[in-house]
Amino acid sequence: MKDRPDREPILKYADARIDRAAALREDPGWVEKALKQSDARIIATWRSRHLLCITESDQPRAVRLSPEHLAEHMVEHGEAVFLGMEDSMTLFAVDLSDRIDPEPELEPEASFVDLRRFGPLLDGHDANLLAYARAMLNWHRNHQYCGRCGAATASSAGGHRRQCTSKDCGHMSFPRTDPAIIVLVEHPGDDDGPPRCLLGRSAHFPEGMYSTLAGFVEPGESLEQTVRREVFEEAGIELASVRYLASQPWPFPGSLMLGFHATASSTIIRRNDEELEAVRWFSLDEVDQFGESGETDGLCLPRPDSIARFLIDHWCDKMHGRESKGN
Ligand SMILES: [Zn+2]
Repeated sequence: MKDRPDREPILKYADARIDRAAALREDPGWVEKALKQSDARIIATWRSRHLLCITESDQPRAVRLSPEHLAEHMVEHGEAVFLGMEDSMTLFAVDLSDRIDPEPELEPEASFVDLRRFGPLLDGHDANLLAYARAMLNWHRNHQYCGRCGAATASSAGGHRRQCTSKDCGHMSFPRTDPAIIVLVEHPGDDDGPPRCLLGRSAHFPEGMYSTLAGFVEPGESLEQTVRREVFEEAGIELASVRYLASQPWPFPGSLMLGFHATASSTIIRRNDEELEAVRWFSLDEVDQFGESGETDGLCLPRPDSIARFLIDHWCDKMHGRESKGN
């Protein structure tokens, strides 16, 4: 596996340490052969759930099945996606969603579970692998037909391309990720109050949870423009500065979250859209009183594996003069 880079913040789902070995994908003979070798390993997914080994004593881990193991259980690998090399193993992702019952004892103590629930418990490498596999398989499910002519498409390049099967068309499509910005807006403090940060809550959030503002990048926008637009739409706040901090693949279902820190040049909140049900400023003292979702009746922070949480922790660390996890 690849080493972690120094000095870059590593967020959950972003700890990519397999070698994607992109050059190997282009040889269909190699991909087909590699899938049958004894050193191939397969990450199996069933209806957006992932096969994890879960015991009472150990950290949950992603199960890597062998081709023999799948064959024993008469599981067809279908259009397997070549993920890359994990040490000397060739790693594939396989979608078993067509099976009615995915668990004829595929692996002892393993079951198909929701990554939303178990992601925070996984180590960074496994979390990244599952996010990668999940995003790829989701893209395949949603691109079975050509967007240009409507004919069926077929997987190629080890699952990193789909090609229209119509001879008259032949349109190729490639895996996509949807860029979205997420931003912690800070006001440095003035006669009206201490330094504070701007958090909002959407109606679908867990009870009491407040988070950083976020939104999808629209065509024709720079990331900085998206940050300014979203903050203005959701809170009516103008920004004096916008600074990139870190990014995180967010596989629910296939976004890339681009995290920013921004400084506000105004403090009066005026919501210009209905995306959030509440937006307000919080002082450091107030944020320090926030609890964890599900563990408090009061206000709570976003889930610990999210970039929203990273941005809030980063601000709190800075305000307390602590060294940030992200630096
Ligand atoms: Zn087509």
